[in-house]
Amino acid sequence: MEQFLLENTERYKRLVAAFKPSALDKKGINSAAASPEIVVCTRVRPMLEDEVAEGFPCGVYPRGATNTVDLHELKRPVRGLPTLSSSHYTVDRVFGPEDSTADVYESVVKPIVPWAWGGGIATVFCYGQTASGKSYTTAGLEKCVAESLMGGSLDGERKIYISVVELAGRTAYDLLNERKEISILEDSFGTTQLAGALEHRVANKESLLGHIEAAAGLRRTAPTLKNDNSSRSHAICRLRFENPAMKSAEEGLLYLIDLAGSEAARDKTTHDATRMKEAKEINTSLSVLKDCIRGRALADAEFYAGRISKAPAYIPFRQSILTKTLKHVFDPTSTRSCKTVVVACVNPCLADIGASKNTLRYAEMLRVVGPKPKMAEYDPWVPATWNNEQLQSWIESNSGQPPIDPLLLAPSESGLQLLRLPIPEFLTRCLKTEGATPEQAQAFQTKFWAMHVDSQRRSRYINANKAAGDGKAAAAGDNVVSRLASLDSSADPEPDAGSVPFKERIRPGMVVRWQTRPEYGSFAVGGKAYAMVMCPVHAVGERVRDVKGVQVNPQSEDAAERKGETYLCALVTPSLLPGSYGISLWRQVVVKVEDMVAEVLMEWDEATRYYYMTV
Ligand code: ADP
Repeated sequence: MEQFLLENTERYKRLVAAFKPSALDKKGINSAAASPEIVVCTRVRPMLEDEVAEGFPCGVYPRGATNTVDLHELKRPVRGLPTLSSSHYTVDRVFGPEDSTADVYESVVKPIVPWAWGGGIATVFCYGQTASGKSYTTAGLEKCVAESLMGGSLDGERKIYISVVELAGRTAYDLLNERKEISILEDSFGTTQLAGALEHRVANKESLLGHIEAAAGLRRTAPTLKNDNSSRSHAICRLRFENPAMKSAEEGLLYLIDLAGSEAARDKTTHDATRMKEAKEINTSLSVLKDCIRGRALADAEFYAGRISKAPAYIPFRQSILTKTLKHVFDPTSTRSCKTVVVACVNPCLADIGASKNTLRYAEMLRVVGPKPKMAEYDPWVPATWNNEQLQSWIESNSGQPPIDPLLLAPSESGLQLLRLPIPEFLTRCLKTEGATPEQAQAFQTKFWAMHVDSQRRSRYINANKAAGDGKAAAAGDNVVSRLASLDSSADPEPDAGSVPFKERIRPGMVVRWQTRPEYGSFAVGGKAYAMVMCPVHAVGERVRDVKGVQVNPQSEDAAERKGETYLCALVTPSLLPGSYGISLWRQVVVKVEDMVAEVLMEWDEATRYYYMTV
């Protein structure tokens, strides 16, 4: 193929010179319709000296001031002369060979740094094939971030911590601790922890840059470099911002991620089993990442469109280690708001045009055009329907004494936008009102959120009953609503549950960790056995038998004596997806109260149809 390209370079150049771009179609013009929380851009790097020296021409051209790039390929027809095949791709921003990393930073990354600083989550992904400029861009952006963070222009004081890890297949390494292998723990709570990764506190630009450079150096000089390690692994640089003035507030997170080369999965040149497995893992992680980014963007777009009554979107973040590690960013049940930037890096050389085309397609797919934001009709009980004026007047009369100054808390935001503000930022803004205390700010924030959550539950319940034609039930009280909503979890819905020892409030549906008895053999997986309580043993009839076929309630005196001390339970066992569980309703065991070790909270996940443990 390369020979064919080199032989036809002159013809190719003539065809490109004569190329007339087609008028932009809808997707090109409609760039502003994409999700407000995610910016997808592409960066076309310059041709490198050796590519030019080899004689290859350029195949990717940003189209002037638009957000579109043209890509040209030379096709070898069965008969006749080679022809030009052109396609174009539209993203939110296009950076060409003449644009510097500082330009990329100023335009798309700088705006999200204060977001993370204020307690939000901001993530930057660099995607592309090997040698497309991912590491170059990530490294440059990291330097710019260091300048911004340490330049003193951001509001308030923060303690800054950095950690850098590398994910290669199912293995993780700490790039700030001599590339020590660290455990990827998929704990029974369904979250992935990178246990053992060191976090370093940084106090100035030099030490931040020093860590970034050390991590990059380790990645470059890894012992496996011969196998081009860096292109087959994801590098995750995480900056965490703690606000010393607000110890209990959630910390801000800024992730800068240099993804594995996107061509890995198609690279069939080396066939050894480990390599193939690794390539498959990368392929999965990049494809799951795409689904997660799209899912999140869609959920955000729906939020802004005021579709508050919908169930949380399905985001398959549990399907790869990369996205599980970034649980905060993708978990649809998380209330934290995120801003994401994807930089799709493109190598313009005609010899690599196939991979560049795939990158641009991937980037285009990340752009979700969600429902058009429309302001729902004003409802005094639904904060998401308030415009700035309505919000400001609510703040004034509901924020306690002294009233929080609405101009300081929400100078221009609508109700929806204020709901999206990171909580620490909300609190910081409240505290700008003279005389406001941290307790007042916290209580006011909770009040605002509680109102939003209640309004969502109310509308979900009302919609469900409307659909069922039950107008009376639709109008029923909020108590039923909040109770219903809490029943996707095994947690005891009674408000005093936390203060009562679990053995004194055993009830059907409670999940417990238990010590199996020798007569059952071992149902323990990873040393732990779980079961869901169904009913006291004395409540069942004589014919009921357990998993071993043993009669459960022998009606003997002994059994009567033990009334209330033994329960018929269903086994809870690990299921297909990591961290997921199934409840085997028909595999029943008898569990003595004395063998119950602890209550375990489980949640039903409608999307995957499994149970997951929660905290
Ligand atoms: P990747 O991380 O995608 O494998 P690199 O970042 O290592 O690719 O880039 C490959 C080569 O291209 C490097 O030599 C790098 O210096 C160069 N390069 C990448 N982007 C640019 C750019 N925007 N300007 C100049 N050189 C670049």
